[in-house]
Amino acid sequence: MKLARLPDGTPEIFHTLQGEGLSTGKPAIFIRSSLCNLHCQWCDTDYTWNWEGTPWTHDRDREPGYAKFRKEDQIIDLSPSDVAETVRSFPCHHLVLTGGEPLLHDADFVEILTILNNDNDTWTAEVETNGTLTPSSELDALITQYNVSPKLANSGNDQKLRLKEDALTFFASSPKAWFKFVVSAPEDLAEIQDLQSRLALDPDRIFLMPEGRSPEDLALRTAWLVDLCRDQGYRFSQRLHLALWGPKRGK
Ligand code: SF4
Repeated sequence: MKLARLPDGTPEIFHTLQGEGLSTGKPAIFIRSSLCNLHCQWCDTDYTWNWEGTPWTHDRDREPGYAKFRKEDQIIDLSPSDVAETVRSFPCHHLVLTGGEPLLHDADFVEILTILNNDNDTWTAEVETNGTLTPSSELDALITQYNVSPKLANSGNDQKLRLKEDALTFFASSPKAWFKFVVSAPEDLAEIQDLQSRLALDPDRIFLMPEGRSPEDLALRTAWLVDLCRDQGYRFSQRLHLALWGPKRGK
């Protein structure tokens, strides 16, 4: 399967604390797959999709020295059994399957979780997904929690690509799914309320999280977003990993 590759050539599989959403602060092993079916202009894992020769734009295009990535440098191919072996080397039994878009690797994750569960250990696994793909029933049976982050217009993706009714309906009806929206401006609220109403979501299942890659950007948006969450009955999600380590990879 295709995983994100760290600059030292190793796969981006690391032991850390979950930084966002319902499980914030929980120790977890992150498995970062490569490739994404969306191209968010503020994406902080753009090394999983913003390849040389592609037409997609990114906020960082304005930064001096920023360049699209060479695909060969950013991907490492590993078998599911090799991934399972790496995962077993950490003193933890909770996984976060992330990306990119991890549900592009549905069958590989089924194999990894099946191997791990055959060890007679109890494993739990959450998935960080953009909510455009429906997991297979095999994968669904192995997943403890979905963190579904449908993308808003602020992501720069065409609406037809970012909002897939069948997948969103699946997640809305799953008791394991929580919704997490990346918010750039107070005007994003109307879109969130529209989705909430279409999917009949209880506000208690919804997290709002500030967009931003630096502590300064996050602090600026947090200042008004916490009030908005309080007034609308949504949960607020911080981005603990950015506060602790900044945009460092493998943390
Ligand atoms: S869906 Fe997630 S990984 Fe894909 S481009 Fe958007 S933020 Fe990045």
